[in-house]
Formats: sequence, structure tokens, C-alpha cells
Amino acid sequence: MTVAKKWCLTEAQRRDAADPIAFARARFSLPKDRIYFDGNSLGPLSHAVRQRIAEVTAQQWGEDLITSWNAHQWIDLPKRVGNRIGRLIGASPGQVLCCDSISINLFKLLAGALPMVRGKRQVLSTQDNFPTDLYMVQGLSHLIGQHACRLDLVEESALLEEINDDTGIVLVTEVNFRTGRRISIPELVAKAHAHGALVIVDLAHSAGAVPVHLEAWAVDFAVGCTYKYLNGGPGAPAFVYVAKRHQQQFQQPLFGWLGHAQPFDFSPHYEGAEGISQLLTGTPPIISLAAVDAALDAFQDVDIRVLREKSLGLSEYFLLGLGLLELEEQLRLISPRAAEHRGSQLSFAHDDAYGICQALIERGIIADFRAPNVLRIGFAPLYNTYEEVWQTVETIGEVLAAKEHQDPRWQTRNAVT
Ligand SMILES: *Cc1c(COP(=O)(O)O)cnc(C)c1O
Repeated sequence: MTVAKKWCLTEAQRRDAADPIAFARARFSLPKDRIYFDGNSLGPLSHAVRQRIAEVTAQQWGEDLITSWNAHQWIDLPKRVGNRIGRLIGASPGQVLCCDSISINLFKLLAGALPMVRGKRQVLSTQDNFPTDLYMVQGLSHLIGQHACRLDLVEESALLEEINDDTGIVLVTEVNFRTGRRISIPELVAKAHAHGALVIVDLAHSAGAVPVHLEAWAVDFAVGCTYKYLNGGPGAPAFVYVAKRHQQQFQQPLFGWLGHAQPFDFSPHYEGAEGISQLLTGTPPIISLAAVDAALDAFQDVDIRVLREKSLGLSEYFLLGLGLLELEEQLRLISPRAAEHRGSQLSFAHDDAYGICQALIERGIIADFRAPNVLRIGFAPLYNTYEEVWQTVETIGEVLAAKEHQDPRWQTRNAVT
């Protein structure tokens, strides 16, 4: 065993030394004595973000006050940041806007897309989609009535075959937040379009972690968040994508003054702006938005294909280590075993998953837990290393051997898991 362990460590160090994007780690302000595998929930602070927030608050807000809307182009930030995000998800300029939360943006898309499918009312989604995605449909149904909007839920594995001529909108998350399973969007879009349906894709666990090609895949609408793999900071604004071909016809329901064609005319009558700007509603959170802008610097000179390769390399190495330490029986993998069907996380089922997670945090390794029994390890290839992967696997082995996960302290759960 010790020989195997020694090999694992040496091999991890060898892989780190050969990592073509190892340079990106230095862009982050990572706490010492911590290993962070929770970038799929909240990405860490980068030096660029720390600096930008200081500048935006001290200089722009502090000194230049309201003139900053023009002087520092605050007014253009939602579009500018949107265009930068677009580069990471295969969308050319003018189709992505950075604003609001995923939930709010989904509401805008659902309400705006339903009238485009000519009387069809079915919104088809998956049983284990992220709850807010389903709640937003339920809320819209409640508002406009079942005859105009009806949520139908199916198993993820049956989604493709459940699409038929009654389907109005397919609402899907590319990478399942619980299992990490990644579904094939191009196939889904082709089937939906063949039946006259439109597709809304949630990229919360995709953007910044897996290659996405919204235009090439002919996706109609998309949303995603910036505080996970894009490292924009807690509660940073989300993004919304409307394909150019739909922008004329699409109208979002939340008529806000900043989505108006001429906000500073202060007209009593709403007239939506041209293009993606119509998706704006109210005043954007400039400090957070500037943080997202700076956070995107971390992707400079990083090829998203290389990022993906490293992401899968890290997760495969994790599984290799688990196998060598004979922990596979105890930690049951619920993510797909085939790497190409995964996003950038591994999920394991264990009755004491919460206890394992807490015991790891106590030892300085941060992962997370999702009810009822899932331990999630999120791999962020911009900063995670193979050595961290190995140390984590080894520590899980120690936690399980010493039964630290059964500590009575873990019987009560924190509010945020
Ligand atoms: C994190 C996450 C969200 C979060 O939505 P907000 O409204 O931005 O809080 C939505 N969908 C998925 C799939 C997520 O993973």
C-alpha cells in the first residue's frame, strides 16, 4: 500500500509539472492550508477581482461618483461582460447579457418564449433538474394559468424520446448539479426543433468548465451563473443568451426602464431596446458586475479544450486513487463512469456523506454535500492540481478508516450545506 501511495503522489506531481495551464493557479488568491474542491458552488477570489473591487469602490464610486456611469462605462458593463462570457460558451457578440440571477432570467425566457411556439403550452423538463428551474415554470403557470403554461417532468434518460409535437419548450440543465451527468445538447436541439419546440439550456455547471457552442448547437436560449466556475463572487449576476435569430420576435415580460430603447427619455410608454439589451430590467449591481469582468481575466490564454482535458484528467485521477486505496465500495460513484458523459464534478453516494464532507472540511479540504446522501467534488482546472486530488483521496481514506464521518457532531446540519 505504501508503495502505491508513494507512486500516486509522485505521479500527481509529475502531472502537475506537465500541466499546460498550471500558470493559471497563480491568478487566484487561495487560502493557505486549504484544498478547495467546491468551485462548482462558489469559485474563489482572484487577484484581478480583489484589485478591481478596490478600484471600483475607492476610485470610481468613491471619487468619480455618478460620473462613472459614463466615465468608466458602467452603463455598458452588462453587455460588455456578456460578450466576454459569450466567448466561453460559443456565442458571438450581442447575444449574451450579464444581469440578474438565473431564476429571474429563466422567468424572462420562459414568458418570452412561450408566445413563440404558437399555442403550445408544454414546458418539458427533467425530474431532477435544479429546483429553481422547475419553480420558475411553476410560478409562471400559477400566474398565467395551466392552459398557457404546463410543466411536464420526465426522467433525464427519457427526455429525448418524450419530445413530441405537443412540446413547446424544452428546459434542460446541461450538467446535472447532483450527478454531474452531462447530456448531449446538439441532439436535444435537433429533436426539439424537428417538433417545433424551443430549447432553453441552463449552463450553471458548464460555463467555464466544459466547452459549450451555443451557436453551433443552434440553442435558442440559455442562462448560467458567474459565481461557480466563472469565479465572479457570491451572488454575482447571472447571464442570459438569446440567439440573434430570435431577438426581433422575442419580448421579455419584465419591462424595466433600462431595457427601454431610450431609458433617458423617461417616456411613460415602454418600448423595448433593440437586441439583447431588452433583457435588462433595472439598475445593474456594478460592483459585482465589475468583479465578474475581472474574474474572466483568469481565462486569458487558457484554451477551453485544454481546460476540459485537465478537468477530466483530475477526475480520472481521483477515481484511480480511490481504486488503489480500495475505497470504491464505500463511496459509490453516481456520476457516469465514462468521462465524456461527465461535467466537471464527481458525485458519490454514502449514508454519511454529510459527515464525510464535514470531517474533510475540518481537515482543510472543502467539498460539498447535497441531500439526501451525495458528496460532491468539483474540479476547477484553472487552479486545482493533481497533488490536491491525491491528498484529498488519501484524506478520505483516513477519515473513513478512523470513522470520523460518524462523529455525533454531524447529526445536525448547517443551514447551507
Ligand atoms: C446554481 C444553480 C442555479 C442558481 O440559480 P440562481 O437563481 O442564480 O440562484 C440555477 N440552476 C442551476 C442548474 C444551478 O446549478
